[in-house]
Amino acid sequence: MSESRVSYHDSVEEMLKRIRDDGLSSVFSRWEAQEKIRCKFCLEGVSCQLCTHGPCRISEKAGADKGVCGIGPDAMAMRNFLMRNIMGAATYGHHAFEAFRTLKATGEGKTSFTITDTDKLKWMCEKTGINTNQDTNQLAIQLAELLDRELKINPDEESIMVEAFAPKKRKPLWRKLNLYPVGIQHEVENCIASCLTNVDGDYVSLAKKALRLGLSTIYTAQIGLEMTQDILFGTPMPHEVDVDMGIMDPDYVNIAFNGHQPWVGVATLQKAKKEEYQAMARKAGAKGLRIVGSIETGQELLQRFEVDDVFVGLMGNWLALEPFLATGTVDALVMEENCSPPALDQYAEKYQVALISVSTIIGVPGTEHEMPYYPAKVDEMAENCIEIAIENFKKRHGAIKPMVPQHKRKAIAGFSTEAVLQAIGNDLLLPCHVSGNLSTSKV
Ligand code: SF4
Repeated sequence: MSESRVSYHDSVEEMLKRIRDDGLSSVFSRWEAQEKIRCKFCLEGVSCQLCTHGPCRISEKAGADKGVCGIGPDAMAMRNFLMRNIMGAATYGHHAFEAFRTLKATGEGKTSFTITDTDKLKWMCEKTGINTNQDTNQLAIQLAELLDRELKINPDEESIMVEAFAPKKRKPLWRKLNLYPVGIQHEVENCIASCLTNVDGDYVSLAKKALRLGLSTIYTAQIGLEMTQDILFGTPMPHEVDVDMGIMDPDYVNIAFNGHQPWVGVATLQKAKKEEYQAMARKAGAKGLRIVGSIETGQELLQRFEVDDVFVGLMGNWLALEPFLATGTVDALVMEENCSPPALDQYAEKYQVALISVSTIIGVPGTEHEMPYYPAKVDEMAENCIEIAIENFKKRHGAIKPMVPQHKRKAIAGFSTEAVLQAIGNDLLLPCHVSGNLSTSKV
């Protein structure tokens, strides 16, 4: 990358010119400002402000080899690290909680969703010991209840999910090292209590808690939530999609779904495919109504739904979010989880974007529309999002000059485990994993 660039992403580079000309800050300009004043103690993890005896920093040169409480540098750094783990784990726990209540409400017929992958539902029920000789909706309810209980498994109980999915060889080792996890709620509570001043000041103990928390996150939250999303919306299979900001057309009412939890995005997409809602958008002077994927919610949609004239694809990652809003083409940004950064208000104001939160965990300044998520209200929430976006279109279109980078690329999305196994088979995959000849990376 040439030194004059700040991003590999051509669309971002183009939009940053507009952002600078319009006098707004961006993640890139704020990074530059922070680079000049970074604290070397914070960079090394050896600063702490957990209690009123601090803030403390570790400096052997200054004769301060421990905090006031006596904690050493390794434990201080590990405790800082564990607190970050806790935030990630709790967010996955929250995502899982929302997934399981959505599945349960769907089984009860209270949402606009239906069970899409019944084979996966039955497979999950078999794996977790639920009698599969029952009606599909009953299976969904029972699985949702079981998975929800798994979030809350305490140390006096055994996790069904860990027993069902963890590698056999690992389990005795985890028990020996006290790494065998229980439900994420207990593990988060245990870890956060350990971070309190003068509770756990041992870096090995803190590191083991981070490992145990990670295992709990995978087995009692992540696997269940991913399987639930597949059961509800379909197991991803590879298909061609469109990505990048060139997917935007300013003449449409454009609603972008941003975060990680696809419930309201899917419900809105279902509605947007109906002529009635397209007609509503046309009545407001638009060519129609479009759904745009942003960040991980975009990926959740992209891997399970075909790109067409209603769902137009994925705009990019979170570093592209501010440039995306600066295109002047977005009518509503609907947020529910991560990557909903706090300085979007200046973009909402400048480029006429309605900010909508559909989760109680979101708190972006300037968000005018807040709708706590209730699975039974997902249809109504989708309807509200469409109405807000159409109203916004009337204010945006013609008033904000659009600027759309002409970059639109093809990509292949939908590589679920099943898709990979279908393509190359376990007989080939497993030996490669065992021999270490296969590596995975996240770009
Ligand atoms: S917990 Fe210890 S290191 Fe942290 S601020 Fe308090 S005294 Fe200082």
